[in-house]
Amino acid sequence: MAKIIDGKAISAAIRAEIKEETAAFVKEKGYAPGLAVIIVGSDPASQVYVRNKHRACEEVGFYSQGYELPADTDEATLLALIDRLNRDDRIHGILVQLPLPRHLDAEKILLAIDPAKDVDAFHPFNVGRILIGKYSFLPCTPAGVMELLSRSGVTIDGKECVVVGRSNIVGKPQAVLLLEANGTVTVCHSHTKNLKEVCRRADILVAAIGKPEFFDASYVKEGAVVIDVGMNRRPSDGKLCGDVDFASVEPIASAITPVPGGVGPMTITMLLKNTLTAARGR
Ligand code: NDP
Repeated sequence: MAKIIDGKAISAAIRAEIKEETAAFVKEKGYAPGLAVIIVGSDPASQVYVRNKHRACEEVGFYSQGYELPADTDEATLLALIDRLNRDDRIHGILVQLPLPRHLDAEKILLAIDPAKDVDAFHPFNVGRILIGKYSFLPCTPAGVMELLSRSGVTIDGKECVVVGRSNIVGKPQAVLLLEANGTVTVCHSHTKNLKEVCRRADILVAAIGKPEFFDASYVKEGAVVIDVGMNRRPSDGKLCGDVDFASVEPIASAITPVPGGVGPMTITMLLKNTLTAARGR
């Protein structure tokens, strides 16, 4: 029976710490850390994320601004808003909710954000700093995974770590962070041969491919720590599920994150942490 890594509880503990640090920050500086969230279009899932981010800001004592722009917003309008927020002293973090409508060039938009306010850590300047280990911000989901591991007492030093998935927002930065923590890291993707064998070598397996319940017990070594980043809808009942088949893997893993309630709650928490860091760095 695996230890269940409770992302909700760990996230709540970190938010309580951030709230306390924010109160001290406000007392010292006379202003609160400020986050601006921009959403273009009316994708219901994105709207829920944005609302959750606002609520989370309020809970820890941040100042927040939300911009809900129509789906046909042109590039110049969005760039002008980002430019204004870049120069707004009340705003320390700017987040543009992805995905953007097709007519907008996400890369160009993200490049326009001042790297000092890039609390998602997607700007190439920040990506480069992460690679050389001199970062201010870490991308929220991989940073959340690192917090889950450290606060659950999982050591990474010298361990075989296998990350499945190589996206710019999850897999690649996750691999870099595990490497920096002295893990021996293998990154797998859709061209990996013998995926099962590679996964079975892992002391720490991070699943981030976006395929519902893909990893069953046959991918997992007895006693491994299994981190499930996936957030999918199960085809049979439409319920939220991860990339890991929890029922089959939990009996053989030493620790595992559930979905929901594992990695998911950590992402916004890490965004709050980055915003506080940005305010301190002003
Ligand atoms: P992407 O679709 O950008 O990347 C998926 C990666 O998985 C790719 O590198 C792809 O390989 C690889 N892959 C896909 N199928 C296989 C396979 N059968 N075998 C091996 N590798 C495979 O997804 P994201 O990284 O954005 O997200 C991954 C999952 O994490 C999703 O379920 C997403 O919803 C979730 N997520 C959760 C977050 C949270 O807060 N908990 C935050 C962000 C994402 P290749 O590069 O070769 O195509």
